[in-house]
Amino acid sequence: MGNDGGSIPTRRELVKSATRQPTVSELKATALESLTHAWTHCPLTGDALDLENAVSDWRGRLYNYESVLKALIPSDSDSSNDNKKEAEIGAGDISFASTGIKSLRDIVRIKFKRYVPPEGKKARWACPISLKEFGAANRAVYLVPCGHAFSEVAIREIPGERTCPVCSEAFEEDNVIPILPTTEVDTTRLLVRIERLQDEGLAHSLKKDKKASKKKRKRDESEKVNGAESNGGEHNGERSRKAAKKDDRLSGINNAMASSLTAKVLAEQDELSRRRKLAAVLGK
Ligand SMILES: [Zn+2]
Repeated sequence: MGNDGGSIPTRRELVKSATRQPTVSELKATALESLTHAWTHCPLTGDALDLENAVSDWRGRLYNYESVLKALIPSDSDSSNDNKKEAEIGAGDISFASTGIKSLRDIVRIKFKRYVPPEGKKARWACPISLKEFGAANRAVYLVPCGHAFSEVAIREIPGERTCPVCSEAFEEDNVIPILPTTEVDTTRLLVRIERLQDEGLAHSLKKDKKASKKKRKRDESEKVNGAESNGGEHNGERSRKAAKKDDRLSGINNAMASSLTAKVLAEQDELSRRRKLAAVLGK
């Protein structure tokens, strides 16, 4: 109205924008809700997240180890297997392909600790140093390569040498991975980190990314199919025979590389179920 060039919003405009934009506290509530969901569900299957057997990728996401193992088993030529796998793995919030996980090197098993308070109070998953509970309410991190998890506050406040307070393994500042990070600073840092590792031929776990170097070698060696996997000095035929002898679940798989990965994944799966049974027997 005055000649200042500004305009006074009408009531209707105010009401309209008020209904369109959620308030800060509403946004916070939604963010907390989805963070809580991410702390309690495997994004691949939608199943409850088992912190006893959780793994994480370079993004700091949490998955059930078992879902990743299942998704990693290379599918053979039989497409009905593919469908079955998709039905199991594809039931969650994200597809396995979108995670970029290609092998066990791309994940780290997280070792969450359980804190048992005295006097019959309920045990909970908590940072072994600060005793802050793991979950959406407290920012947490894990260390690569060892996988031990802590509240962020605790790990930042450890003075002196950068060694894991639980297992004493040395770690670099850059390998402190925020679990389910929510700030842009964190997500950008993780992206820069994984790009640097990839340039160095390393995977998230800091293990050598064999696949990347293999691809390179494959390109270099033009089309020598059998030459693609040259470390070890075993012949491919021998290797697949060996793998097949180990486990008849591998019978449909011809490719030596695929079968060696499958053998590894199946062995991990067996180990996992063995430990589950043991835990059940011990009445844990
Ligand atoms: Zn450790």
